[in-house]
Amino acid sequence: MIVNMSAGATKEQIEHVMDRIKECGFLPHLIQGAERTVIGVVGKNRGRRSEVEALRVAPGVEDIISISQPFTLVSLQLQPQRTVVDVKGVKIGGPELVVMAGPCSVESREQLMETARGVKAAGAHILRGGAYKPRTSPYDFQGLGIEGLKILAEAREETGLPIVTEVMGVEDLDAVVEYADMMQVGARNMQNYPLLRRLATVPRPVLLKRGPSATIKEWLLAAEYLLSGGNPNVVLCERGIKTFDAELRNTLDLAGVALAKELCHLPIVVDPSHATGRRSLVPAAARAAVAIGADGLIIEVHPCPERALSDGPQSLDLPGFAAMMKGLKPAIAMVAAGR
Ligand code: PEP
Ligand code: MN
Repeated sequence: MIVNMSAGATKEQIEHVMDRIKECGFLPHLIQGAERTVIGVVGKNRGRRSEVEALRVAPGVEDIISISQPFTLVSLQLQPQRTVVDVKGVKIGGPELVVMAGPCSVESREQLMETARGVKAAGAHILRGGAYKPRTSPYDFQGLGIEGLKILAEAREETGLPIVTEVMGVEDLDAVVEYADMMQVGARNMQNYPLLRRLATVPRPVLLKRGPSATIKEWLLAAEYLLSGGNPNVVLCERGIKTFDAELRNTLDLAGVALAKELCHLPIVVDPSHATGRRSLVPAAARAAVAIGADGLIIEVHPCPERALSDGPQSLDLPGFAAMMKGLKPAIAMVAAGR
């Protein structure tokens, strides 16, 4: 439920409503907008709903809306202004498209430095790179771990690009927090609730990838874990879902991006690399993502994809990335013109 306070509601009236929500067994979540105050009523269904509904006649209350969706804090109904997430000065969800780029895995100092310099020169805003890798096979390269994090930090030092990197489990969380500017939750971990609960308490923005088999509702509820636990700085990432068609690694759910934007105030970025699995399709999928309203892109780039230790076939090389960035310009201009 959402309690809309009237424009002239006083501090005392707002406090009274918050107290009553608590007495009824729920948690109030205050959103103070420029013009009016909205209070989200969150918590388990054990609370006494009908008593909260009776607040409709309390002084200062304009309306109480029952929301049909199971999520509240991520809902655009609760917070009509879109969230802008700040990653060390890079603003995701504002008017500028944000591009995160870098290798699937950090493989060596030389590989990462060359990629970082190249993507920065081509206009990327954030450097990506996995130090802890969730690989389908236990025999595949598993990432450099702490060593990889140190190399990422060195690349940030030299280029000034903030870094986003994956945290695979609660056991690695402290190490990743120490180095990362943004914590990536991988697709396979979208419903790792102990990890989400811990990430809700860390002072870092989170990039929450959609699980390959997750519905939009499940994805937004995973984000709700982060917000309800105290971390409002969440960026969603659509990275392709499993469908019946095995021609492509995944199927890019572009309509899902548009729907998630209709339902939720969080920024959304698209990962055309994992969504297609094919280098040749990445630029077109990236343009389509921009056109449908994505707030950003995350792109895999490797200086020599044929030698990559993970995801070479979907990685752009540096000239390919620069060409993709150039090719985005008409789509970016089109979206800006439509605003
Ligand atoms: C990655 O970003 O390299 C990755 C493993 O992505 P996903 O979790 O989407 O599979
Ligand atoms: Mn990858």
